[in-house]
Amino acid sequence: MIGDRIQKVVIVGGGTAGWMAAAALSRTMGLQLSIHLVESDEIGTVGVGEATIPAIRLFNQLVGLDEDEFVRETNGTFKLGIEFQNWGQLGDSYMHAFGQFGQSLGLLEFVQYWLRGRREGVAGPLWDYSLNEVSARLGRFARIPQIPNTNLDGIAHAFHFDAGLYAAYLRKIAEGAGVVRSEGRIQHVLRNGETGHVSAVKLDSGAEIAGELFIDCSGFRGLLIEQTLEAGYEDWTHWLPCNRAIAVPSRNTRPARPYTQSIAHQAGWQWRIPLQHRTGNGHVFCSEFMSEDEATAVLLGNLEGEALAEPRTIQFRTGMRKSAWSRVSRTTCTTLSTHCGSASGALRRTIATSSACGW
Ligand SMILES: Cc1cc2nc3c(=O)[nH]c(=O)nc-3n(C[C@H](O)[C@H](O)[C@H](O)COP(=O)(O)OP(=O)(O)OC[C@H]3O[C@@H](n4cnc5c(N)ncnc54)[C@H](O)[C@@H]3O)c2cc1C
Repeated sequence: MIGDRIQKVVIVGGGTAGWMAAAALSRTMGLQLSIHLVESDEIGTVGVGEATIPAIRLFNQLVGLDEDEFVRETNGTFKLGIEFQNWGQLGDSYMHAFGQFGQSLGLLEFVQYWLRGRREGVAGPLWDYSLNEVSARLGRFARIPQIPNTNLDGIAHAFHFDAGLYAAYLRKIAEGAGVVRSEGRIQHVLRNGETGHVSAVKLDSGAEIAGELFIDCSGFRGLLIEQTLEAGYEDWTHWLPCNRAIAVPSRNTRPARPYTQSIAHQAGWQWRIPLQHRTGNGHVFCSEFMSEDEATAVLLGNLEGEALAEPRTIQFRTGMRKSAWSRVSRTTCTTLSTHCGSASGALRRTIATSSACGW
């Protein structure tokens, strides 16, 4: 550290969150920081964050990704919304399309004109006025940010992508910008005896990696923020009683739909995410209401194509960390914002984007 200025950042974890943080920091702060990322091949990544919302494009722009290259490298597809099936009752289908619908005029929102139009029998269903909905249902997409020669918004899009390939792609970019990667399992987290701040992580090889700012991207376990610093976790099980997911990829049987599907089942719901080379499927459920065998059978019975791997179970607890920052001194925030304009905001956004759910 030179004076107040942080120079050494350590990122713990090389899943989507870790490599997003590494790419964003190295691209925005470049030579001002030395960035070290530690990941363990033996532990691996959760690998199921494959459906996004349009905010991912802001992140990709921040990092300077070329969108065509990004889609190619991640076997990605374009996403215009999410179709919810059977949520209200069996047979229901509702598309939550991204973007705007209709056109506001003068002081009034479009919905006011639409309500009047409905009353007078001249307006169609609301979603007929959403370019995203209509395109998604037709299986169409084009990059149209604005309808030419009008002030009408065009199509808002996000992506589906292979989470492993996305992390690998960002890794290439981050390493190209100077990020150093170490492979190995962290055995100990070392703390400063006086302040209690994390000072280094020790790998099973015996190597110690020291830093001045640590970013915990170790996934559900929260190796630093929870297991070491005990920042606390707010449990949402009483609001969102889901604690397991069964995930399995399947063979594509049709052209990719430009939307994610979310299908309600008896004790949970299923995601279907179309990629170029496979479809990602999962069944989120609550073990108090359904056994793993039953949940697996429901998922396998609702695949469109042949399963390409053994189904695997992911356990989780719904909720959020009580604090995103722990033991951050005023100096840390000032340093980050002074040396990189909105870096402190970018950092927060990085963490939030990578853990925001795009279902
Ligand atoms: C069922 C389910 C479905 C989801 N679907 C979506 C979705 O569609 N879209 C979306 O945006 N999000 C989704 N999410 C959220 C998604 O999981 C996360 O956003 C993201 O993929 C998690 O990535 P991560 O990098 O935080 O963690 P992980 O992928 O778990 O990576 C953790 C990293 O930490 C490393 N690590 C851990 N412990 C150690 C150690 N001791 N030593 C060294 N390294 C260590 C691991 O090796 C790994 O590299 C979903 C979550 C669940 C549970």
